[in-house]
Amino acid sequence: MSQPCRHYEVVSQLVEKAAIAMQLDPQVKELLREPMRTLTVSIPVKMDDHTVKVFKAFRCQHNNVLGPFKGGIRFHHQADEDEVKSLAALMTYKCALVGLPFGGAKGGVLCDPSQLSAGELERLSRGFVRAIAPIIGPDQDIPAPDMNTNAKIMGWFVDEFAQVRGVYQPGVVTGKPVALGGSQGRTEATGRGIMYVTREAATAFGLELKGATAAIQGFGNVGSYAAKFLYDEGCKIIAVTDIFGGVYDPTGIDPYQLKEHELKTGSVRGFTGTSPISSQELLALKCDILIPAALGNQLTAENAGDVKCEWVVEAANGPTTPEADEILQRKGILVIPDILANAGGVTVSYFEWVQNNYSYYWSEEEVDQRLEKVMADAFDEVYETYLSGEGTTLRVAAYMVALQRLAKAMEARGWVTT
Ligand code: NAD
Repeated sequence: MSQPCRHYEVVSQLVEKAAIAMQLDPQVKELLREPMRTLTVSIPVKMDDHTVKVFKAFRCQHNNVLGPFKGGIRFHHQADEDEVKSLAALMTYKCALVGLPFGGAKGGVLCDPSQLSAGELERLSRGFVRAIAPIIGPDQDIPAPDMNTNAKIMGWFVDEFAQVRGVYQPGVVTGKPVALGGSQGRTEATGRGIMYVTREAATAFGLELKGATAAIQGFGNVGSYAAKFLYDEGCKIIAVTDIFGGVYDPTGIDPYQLKEHELKTGSVRGFTGTSPISSQELLALKCDILIPAALGNQLTAENAGDVKCEWVVEAANGPTTPEADEILQRKGILVIPDILANAGGVTVSYFEWVQNNYSYYWSEEEVDQRLEKVMADAFDEVYETYLSGEGTTLRVAAYMVALQRLAKAMEARGWVTT
C-alpha cells in the first residue's frame, strides 16, 4: 500500500500548488525546497541474547525560521530517510499554520518495536538520544512521541539527555510523563484537536455531528482518542481497524469499551457484537466521516474511487496521495488536511515546552481551553482563505496560511531579498 521514496516529493507538490495560488516569492520556495539538515546515525544495541545489533535512524531538521525545530520520533520497520524528510517538512507547515514559534523536524528509527524486549527498547531509545544529542535541546530541536513511541520513552529521553549534557532540561522533549514536567492533556491532545477541528468544520459546512457516522483506521494514540472525543460529541463510530484487523457494527461501537478490549487482547479484533472488517473495506465504507489515523499513503489512486464518505479527516500524517486527493475532490468529498486536523498534538507540546520554560504548570482544563482556541482560530483562518476563492481546497488554503507566515518571518530575518 505505501509507496516508498516519493513522500518528500508529495509534500513538495502540495507546497507548489499553494505557492502558485498565492504567487509566493520564489526565494521563499527555494529556502523551503530541501531540509536544512538530515542526520543519519547507527545505534549499536546490546540485545538480550548477548549479541550486538546496529539500528539505523534519522533526525531531519527541515526549517527553523520560526523557532527551534520540533517534531516526533517514530519507531517503525519501514522508517526511511525520504519519509522522515517529508514528515519534518509537514511539521514546518503545521507549526506555521497554527502559529507556533517552532520549525519542523522528525525522527525515525528503523526497527520493529514489537520484536524488542522492554530492555532492548530502552537501550535503543537511549542510544538514539546519545546519537542525536549534539543537535537537540530546548532551544535547538525538541522531539516528541509519534508512531510506536510514548511518554515512557520520552522519560528515557529526558534522563539520557541529562546524563549526556550534564544538565537536567525537561524541555528537551515533549510528551513526557507528567512526573517529569509533561503537560496535562498531552496524551489526548491530537485526538482532542481532531474533534475540535471536526466540530468547527461541522458548523461551517453544515454537518450535524450528533448521529454522524465515523470510520477510523488506526486505534493507537490518535485514533482511539479521536474516536472517544467524537463519540462524546454524539458521533456513531461504526468501524475501527488496527494493524491486525478490524471491527464493524452499523449500530455503533463504544470506543471506551473497545479500548479496554484492545488493552486486554492486543487488538480491536473480536470485540463483542461486531463483525470483522479489513482496512481496505473500512476505507470504502459509506459513512459521514472517514478518519485515517495510522500510516501515510493509505488513500491512493487505486482505492480513492471506492471512497464513499462525505468527509476525510486526516488524523495521520500524509494519508492521502495527491492523485487520491484529486479523485476525492472530483467526487465532492471534503478533505480536512493533516496539517490542520492533527495539529492538536504539537500545540499541546508547545504548551508543555512553555510550562517547562516557566516551571509553572497548568490544569488540564486550562490546557484544553487554550487548545480549543488555537484549533478553532486555525480552522477559521483556513476557512476564510478557502472562502476567499484563493485556495481551491482546504489543503491548499492551509498551506497558503502556513507559507504566508513562513514568508513573513524569512523576510523579517533578512533571509530573502526584498
Ligand atoms: P500509534 O503507534 O499510537 O498507533 C498507530 C495505530 O495504527 C495502531 O492502532 C496500529 O495498529 C495502527 N496501524 C498500523 N498500521 C496499520 C495498518 N496497516 N492498517 C491499519 N491500522 C494500522 O501511533 P499514533 O501516535 O496514533 O500515530 C498515528 C498517526 O498519527 C501517524 O501518522 C502519526 O504520524 C500521526 N500523528 C500522531 C501524533 C501524536 O501526537 N501521536 C500527532 C500528529 C500526527
